[in-house]
Parts: sequence; C-alpha cells; structure tokens
Amino acid sequence: MQALPRVSSVEVFTLEVRVRGVFRIALGAETRVETLYVKVTLDDGSVGWGEGAPAPRITGEYPRAALEAARIASQHLPGIRLPEELSDALELLSRLLPRSPAARAALESALLDAYSRSIGAPLCALLGGCRSEPLRTSFTISLDEPEVMASKAAEAVEKGFRRLKLKLGGPPSLDIARVEAVRKAVGDDAEIMVDANQAWSLAAANKVIPRLESLGVMLVEQPLPAWDLRGLAELSRRSPIPIAVDESVMDMHDLAELVGLGFRGVVNVKVSRVGGPLRAARILQASVDMGLEAMVGCMLETSLGISHAVHAVSTVKPSFVDLDAPLLLERDPAACKVYDGVMVAPPRGPGVGCEPRLSV
Ligand SMILES: [Mg+2]
Repeated sequence: MQALPRVSSVEVFTLEVRVRGVFRIALGAETRVETLYVKVTLDDGSVGWGEGAPAPRITGEYPRAALEAARIASQHLPGIRLPEELSDALELLSRLLPRSPAARAALESALLDAYSRSIGAPLCALLGGCRSEPLRTSFTISLDEPEVMASKAAEAVEKGFRRLKLKLGGPPSLDIARVEAVRKAVGDDAEIMVDANQAWSLAAANKVIPRLESLGVMLVEQPLPAWDLRGLAELSRRSPIPIAVDESVMDMHDLAELVGLGFRGVVNVKVSRVGGPLRAARILQASVDMGLEAMVGCMLETSLGISHAVHAVSTVKPSFVDLDAPLLLERDPAACKVYDGVMVAPPRGPGVGCEPRLSV
C-alpha cells in the first residue's frame, strides 16, 4: 500500500499587485494591494498553492499581520498526513487564526490544492462536486463622479460585460446621479447592481432604493453597516430591490443570525473573507439550503484566488457571479487561465488547475 503523503514544507509570502488606475469604494481607495500567497509541498512531490487577500478596511487584517499570522500557523503543518489529519489541521488553523480570514484562506487553499493534486483530482471533487458550465461574471465600476462612472460603464458594455456592479458611497443624491448617468450611458439592456459598501443609513437606503428601482437596478449590496444585521434583515423584507449581504457575513454564525432575524436576499461569499474554499463552499451551500440566493465574489486578488473561488462555487448555482478582480489589475502575477472572454471557465484539475508563474 502506498504511504499517505505528508506535508513537507510550507512557504508564505506576500506579492504586491498594482491596480489599474485607482479602485475606490465607500470604505477607501487603493492603487496597490498586497496579497498573501502560500505554497505547500508534500513529500510525494505534490505542490499546492493558495491565496488570501487581506482587506484591512473590512476585516482589520493588514497584510503584514496576515503574513506573520500565516507564518506562525504554518509552522504546525509540516509532518501532517493527508487526508487523515486534514480536518484536524483545518480545525487547528481556525483556532490559531480566528481573526485572520485571508491568512487562513491562503493556508486552507494550498493544503486542499496539494492534496487534491496528490490524488490526481480537481479540488472541486473534494468540496462536493464539479460544475461543467462556465459562469458569466459581472464587472465592477469604481466609485467616482457620475460622468466618469458612466464612461467606464459604457466601455465595459462595449467589451461584452452585460452585468455591471457600481460602487456607490453617498450622499444619496450623488449616488442617484451616478446610477442615472450610467443607465443613460449603457441603455436598458445592461443589468445594473450597486454596492454601497456599508455607506448608507436606513433613512438613506429608504430614500435611494425607490429611485434605483425606477432606474432598473437589480440588486443592492451591503447598503447598511456590517454590524447592522437587524437593519439589513428589515430592509431585505420590504425593499423592492433584492438586498445582498457581503461584509456582514464572515462565517456561518453570521449567516444563521441573519436568517434568524428574517433576512431574505442574496449572500455574497468570498474565499478570502470567510477563510478558505471549503468554508466558502459550505456557506454558499447553506445559503441556498436556507432559501437565499448565492453570490460568489472576490477581493482585489489575483487569478490564483479566483481559481479557488471557481472551485468553491461549483456545487451551487450562483445567482450572481462577481469574479472580476484580475481584470482590474495592471498585471496578474499568477497568470492562471480563468477567463474565456467575459466568461469564467469551469473548474479544472488537477487541484485548483493553476500553477502560478511567478518569475515575471
Ligand atoms: Mg461588496
């Protein structure tokens, strides 16, 4: 009988990635991000890769802290036998990294990638199933003056994107002007979602949402602060436009609490925010099981992280797919083949189906 593979080494490092121009949301603006990479090597020669994109404005996890946290946690992994000790190892990561979702995501991703490669399977097979159809991603328009957003939106539609996500951030009259300008520029065929990234009060949401409805907006994401689960649940029951939660859901407990408060709507799940592809797959599945709609999203991250997200979302049919981050970067150092035009390719193996080419 063949010996079970063991983890022989774990490397952890950050990569600096430049954004095309400036990426601005209600919480702040970025021209560059530092994303966390993990490489796990098994003693049978299999190599696995993982990414976690720390989002300090959302999770409080700064890249240096994520790097340090992942390095400390990674010291516990060499010698672990796969798959026997995999779930214990993932549980240990949860205990060591309770507030470092990106660090946890990078380590979990790399472990799962390495193990699925060692058995010659695609990662999605470990997560419960593999989809064979491609997904169409939306395209994000950074927060800006109405006319700038309108011209970027028109450009995206010209490139073939049908669904746009407009970043909003108040005040209400300016947010309405932004959506009016974009609708005028793209016509009635393009689908428009908006993401306020926590910027509105309940009063502001009540003022803006009816206007957005008349402009044909199909989804309003995270209109209220992340902590205001009660407000989001209430809004979700009476808003004429479906409400999505994003920053409010860090784990399964947040989701259960929202549902307990009566939330109905859409749950945006991001691998780097919930701590790994296995966790993301579980939250996506639980959302659908509880009668909510699933959305798969991303941080500002490279195509390695997106590849993991593609596997994580392969057991549910997401109503919304927002996996455009590498398209917003000046250069994608991982250079994984994720896109086919504006479509996101179905998951491929072995593992996550991507070996980052980092020599560039
Ligand atoms: Mg969002």
